[in-house]
Amino acid sequence: MVKQILFLITLLITLGVFSFTVYRLAGWFRFTKSFPVGDYGKRFNRMMAVAFGQSKILRKPVIGLLHALVFWGFLVITLGSVEMVVEGLTGKDRPMAVTGWFYDFVTASGDIMAYVVLSSILVFLIRRIFMHIKRFYGIEMQKKSKWDALIALAIIFLLMKSLIGLNLTYLSLHPLHAKGLFPVSSRLLPLYTGFFSHTNTITLHEIFWWSHILLIFLFANILPYSKHFHVFTSIPNVFLSRLQPLGYLPNMESVTREVKLMMNPETAFSAAPADAPPPERFGVKDLEDVTWKNYFDSLACTECGRCTDVCPANITGKKLSPRKIFIDLRARMKEKGPGMVKLGREFSDGKSLLRDYVSAEELWACTTCNACAQECPVNINHPSLIIDMRRYLVMEESAAPSGLNMMFANIENNGAPWQFSPQDRMKWAEGLEISDF
Ligand code: SF4
Ligand code: SF4
Repeated sequence: MVKQILFLITLLITLGVFSFTVYRLAGWFRFTKSFPVGDYGKRFNRMMAVAFGQSKILRKPVIGLLHALVFWGFLVITLGSVEMVVEGLTGKDRPMAVTGWFYDFVTASGDIMAYVVLSSILVFLIRRIFMHIKRFYGIEMQKKSKWDALIALAIIFLLMKSLIGLNLTYLSLHPLHAKGLFPVSSRLLPLYTGFFSHTNTITLHEIFWWSHILLIFLFANILPYSKHFHVFTSIPNVFLSRLQPLGYLPNMESVTREVKLMMNPETAFSAAPADAPPPERFGVKDLEDVTWKNYFDSLACTECGRCTDVCPANITGKKLSPRKIFIDLRARMKEKGPGMVKLGREFSDGKSLLRDYVSAEELWACTTCNACAQECPVNINHPSLIIDMRRYLVMEESAAPSGLNMMFANIENNGAPWQFSPQDRMKWAEGLEISDF
């Protein structure tokens, strides 16, 4: 009974802190713009392939497979953790056993995956600490990012160690009943026979049980403050990702309307009422101009660097790193969000995402090749946000690079991007035997 009360208090504290964090983050979403979501069947299929099937991660056969195994391992082990919560609340030993073959399957897979995840994490730690993997570096990768990754890996390592300890001690206490349920641990148990006496095994089992569940609770509350928040956000982010082809650029409704108005006023008013308010802003300058999906992308970013690794602008030494755009967006929300919650949407701290975080030079370096979006394992679409920030520069500040300004002037004056007047267009054909058309 004492254990149950202690567990209940711990669980309530964990849920309380976690709910507060999520409530705080969710509050910032209301300052963002809408993003249409529909076509749920197609989204579901994409989520199954990209998130659960790990199709993008598996493009790199070795390290991709290790990442995928950690992901799948976590899915199975999480089911075991749910059982521990029920066990902690009810005081009943292995309550999921009533589900029969399902319990056997989850427990056996959990035991195998604990060793697989432990080995994979060791490889990741070695890579992070001793190898210079280019995509783990960059101006946006501050010391905090490095420590974030190492701390998370260390916690997962300890989680697996405590789970294995739990399985071994459980097996030692219930040798006949539990043997088939722990295929790997049962083979390793003879190595520990001298170490486990009946009394110390009961104590050790309790120590492993508590350390495992406390680590889960601690991890869940650390995640929202680190890049590892993607543990919660990556699957929904893939589900919510853009369904249009990668190169698709949505038109700006207000501009489309103006063009339609020029071409055919009746069509323009059928799309939006004549007295529709003028757009507050063209493109994206700061937080209040991004969509909630842009912000959700920033919370789902794993900082893996796969986008930057394939970006031709970055590879050729330009300032642009697509990963940085989303790290910047997350940081900007953290900076301005609390002020907006306190003082409302009008709150200004004199800074903006564009220029204080992302420079025009970075934005104009993008070739819109979409390689970044193609590679991103959580289906973030970088070019759409980059283009929206460029739209602000061009339409609100007329701050396009000089080459583009010349082209804009030509389009305005000549109806084409070239310097020649429309009357001169056929000059090239003078003297040639070309009939009128
Ligand atoms: S779309 Fe832009 S940011 Fe993305 S890879 Fe291509 S150049 Fe880089
Ligand atoms: S945007 Fe995508 S590919 Fe780039 S670092 Fe984040 S998760 Fe990785």
